[in-house]
Amino acid sequence: MAHNDDFQDEIGNNHIATSAKNPVRKDAFVLTDDQKIESIKKDVENILQTLGMDLTDDSLSGTPNRVAKMFVKEIFGGLNPNKKPKPSTFDNNYKYGEMLVEKNIVVYSTCEHHLLPIIGRAHVAYISNGTVIGLSKMNRIVEYYSKRPQVQERLTMQIVQELQIALGTDDVACVIDAKHLCVNSRGIKDIESSTVTSEFGGKFKNLETRREFLDYIKLDTKF
Ligand SMILES: [Zn+2]
Repeated sequence: MAHNDDFQDEIGNNHIATSAKNPVRKDAFVLTDDQKIESIKKDVENILQTLGMDLTDDSLSGTPNRVAKMFVKEIFGGLNPNKKPKPSTFDNNYKYGEMLVEKNIVVYSTCEHHLLPIIGRAHVAYISNGTVIGLSKMNRIVEYYSKRPQVQERLTMQIVQELQIALGTDDVACVIDAKHLCVNSRGIKDIESSTVTSEFGGKFKNLETRREFLDYIKLDTKF
């Protein structure tokens, strides 16, 4: 396939994911976090320098280090498999055989085509076949996969796949509704639009089960 600049632009502007896995190289974890921060710091310095910014200004002097730390430790910290949340699952002793929905999980991710934020909500559901998972683990799984340069479709699939493995069932679903700042604040500048992606596994492919899940998402929770 010809990977010329036009082709690359088109992939990026249309937010096309090329794989269900993040395109991470084999040598991604040869450098330590500290070595990465040191290297990225110089890159950020170079960007600001090239843009003509005065890096001796007090307001800017700490920015390269701050951005480098933020990339490695925070917004892209989920690239490191060591940070994957341990799936604490339990036997379903109380025999709850219905659907469990965890809705409105906050998503903070980063578009891998523009490195701008993706902000939204994830709604996750599963039907237990004997194993249950701690509720906060579902939030942590969403958070872990969000902290990568991402594409929303891939994020949705990764959340479902991770829960399918942890729970030992295909009956898992996820819907994400999110705003992409690359669409909202630049390019077409459409501040109203949001992107919805969904992945329905196992019983959720069944129309009635899927509708039940989507109806729960619509519930207006008061407390
Ligand atoms: Zn983008």
